[in-house]
Amino acid sequence: MKILVIVALLLSASTVLAGTRVEGVRLWPAPDHTRLVLDTAGLVEHNVFSLSGPSRLVIDLKDAALSTDFSKVDLSGSPIQRIRSAPRNGNDLRVVLDLKSDIKPRSFVLEPNQQYGHRLVVDLIDEQGSRLDRATSPTVTQDSAGKRDIIVVIDAGHGGEDPGAIGPRGTREKDVVLRMAKRLADLINQQKGFTAKLTRTGDYYVGLRNRTLLARKYNADLFVSVHADAFRTPQPRGASVFALSQRGATSETARWLAQSENRSDLIGGAGGVSLDGRDDMLAGVLLDLSMTASINASLGVGDSV
Ligand SMILES: [Zn+2]
Repeated sequence: MKILVIVALLLSASTVLAGTRVEGVRLWPAPDHTRLVLDTAGLVEHNVFSLSGPSRLVIDLKDAALSTDFSKVDLSGSPIQRIRSAPRNGNDLRVVLDLKSDIKPRSFVLEPNQQYGHRLVVDLIDEQGSRLDRATSPTVTQDSAGKRDIIVVIDAGHGGEDPGAIGPRGTREKDVVLRMAKRLADLINQQKGFTAKLTRTGDYYVGLRNRTLLARKYNADLFVSVHADAFRTPQPRGASVFALSQRGATSETARWLAQSENRSDLIGGAGGVSLDGRDDMLAGVLLDLSMTASINASLGVGDSV
């Protein structure tokens, strides 16, 4: 009887010791936030809170140990001054970020992808407000006839923790498309009557919804998303162009309509059709009409591409 008890205790002790490890760390500074990513050997339970005077962010990881070196992380361009860590309560790990200024934290875990395993993501959000809050339509020149510039928003796909497709020699889609997007923006800006804006200018991730919201804020006439796809075999060459399809639009319509708080934003704010205070049937019809116009315009541009 006594032996059984001891065995059980030993077993539970070894499960505790077999907790997860923090095996790597990456930092992605963006214009309005910095993303800190911890690679963990498995799923990790965590708790994040901030302290002030001086500003610090505390990340507590349950049942975890450190097997990476925080002192090797390049902190330039981020609000972090120093990263410290210490074991806590026996098996837990506490990571402390000494900060240059107050930030708003947000944290979540990411499942393994093509390039990385389990991750804990901590976003340090600039208190000055997000890039989305600050974005306004660009100052555009008007010619003598009173015509304003056409605004083209160019969206480099992926970025930061999301590498996109990876080539056989490790080329990452996020890098290729950023260079393409910048080049394209330069070419467009050289054209009289055109102004280009980018959804991202560096190696950081922008959420899909935020990319389109940015385009709306910039008052975009045209939104071009640049991607570089991979395929299972090396034979395919060339380019493909996608525009929204009728079927896609309809299911998208249904999804958006469900989010009633976003309705007035849907068809483009001030200059567009407001869906406020209209019943769902009418809202649906207006949205479909607007979508059909967008799709036709998109197909036209796609043809030229
Ligand atoms: Zn892509």
